[in-house]
Amino acid sequence: MDGITGLEVFRGKFTQQEPIPEEGIAAALAVLRHGRLHRYNEAEGEVAETALLEEEFAALTGARYALAVASGGYALGCALRALGMEPGERVLTNAFTLAPVPGAIAAAGGVPVFVEVTEDLVIDLDDLAAKAEGCRFLMLSHMRGHLVDMDRLMALCDRLGIQVIEDCAHTMGASWAGVPSGRHGVMACYSMQTYKHINSGEGGFLVSDDADSMARAVLLSGSYMLYGKHRAAPPAEVFERVKMVTPNVSGRMDNLRAAILRPQLKALPERVARWEALYRALEAGLEATPGITLIQRPGAEVFVGSSFQFRLADWSPARIALYLSRCLARGVELKWFGAEKPAAFTSRYDHWHYAPKQVLPQTDRILAGLIDLRLPLTFTPEDCAQIARILRSEALTVGQAPEPEAIAAPVIQ
Ligand SMILES: *Cc1c(COP(=O)(O)O)cnc(C)c1O
Repeated sequence: MDGITGLEVFRGKFTQQEPIPEEGIAAALAVLRHGRLHRYNEAEGEVAETALLEEEFAALTGARYALAVASGGYALGCALRALGMEPGERVLTNAFTLAPVPGAIAAAGGVPVFVEVTEDLVIDLDDLAAKAEGCRFLMLSHMRGHLVDMDRLMALCDRLGIQVIEDCAHTMGASWAGVPSGRHGVMACYSMQTYKHINSGEGGFLVSDDADSMARAVLLSGSYMLYGKHRAAPPAEVFERVKMVTPNVSGRMDNLRAAILRPQLKALPERVARWEALYRALEAGLEATPGITLIQRPGAEVFVGSSFQFRLADWSPARIALYLSRCLARGVELKWFGAEKPAAFTSRYDHWHYAPKQVLPQTDRILAGLIDLRLPLTFTPEDCAQIARILRSEALTVGQAPEPEAIAAPVIQ
């Protein structure tokens, strides 16, 4: 990294997570030594790590049932199948989300119907109501950890007869008015992919209080007829009703990943507090910066500050590209939701050409100026204060420069 002469450069790594806790490493070694990695492979009297993990996640969220699966995207598709989505059925979802969300709808045979995003980066309830006709499901993505007013959303969906599946990939550990994220909808899905709040490389959870759909989810995930080994699943009589008519779509969690996740689950509340300190340090450093619009966080929301978003509202693409490249030269990796082409993890609803073409002018306007950065827990609040200084000084420099020549925006992982 060259930097820009005379200006401070940030040296941290935006993609570096914390190591797995020693307790998790020891538990993983024990699984490797005994060799029983498959979740249903238990020694006499043993309870598998995966079954224990599910029990612990159900207790943490207060859900009656929990199922651990192979990925967050798998959990989303599994939820739709478990709830009986029909082939070709239209499923409402946020236009501002990550590719696995519309991907899961399409893979399960559904058709994504995109709903506009607001300036606070949550689903637009008026647009939701306008598009709801004939839809039975909303896959509600709490994208980048921004929670919509869940009381208003649930009242609306109840009135419209819509079942809500929550995508909590960025809200594991968050809550709305004291209710844990994932406990409003009929089912909720989480991800344990490396960049989320607990890390097993890949992994997902599904939670619900609904016995029939959860029994179907367990069977779908590939339980064969071993569902009796689960500790956070519905009773056997519920499986009796559905076991002959539910296909196996294997996507199980294994004991190795469960072993490294269990100690991280215990550490989640402490992690959430550390993330808040990082987020608030960055937010404080950016306050009242000309050109930068911060995202308002409602008082009812407890969020997990694992990433940070702000808007360069009404900046031209050339100016934004210059801002991104200058920040990158100073060590600050920014992602941009307004780029013309999908780049690394960042893509936009109009890049997903397998879905019917839809026009969302409000979302287009907001995403055109939307900037995103990761806040891994390896950063300190002092790091975040430095990042804020760089973002602020570049906003002043680039924001006030004459209109720049068009350059390609840098691609950030
Ligand atoms: C990460 C993520 C998912 C799930 O992703 P997987 O990589 O399949 O675990 C779903 N929704 C959002 C918004 C995500 O960021």
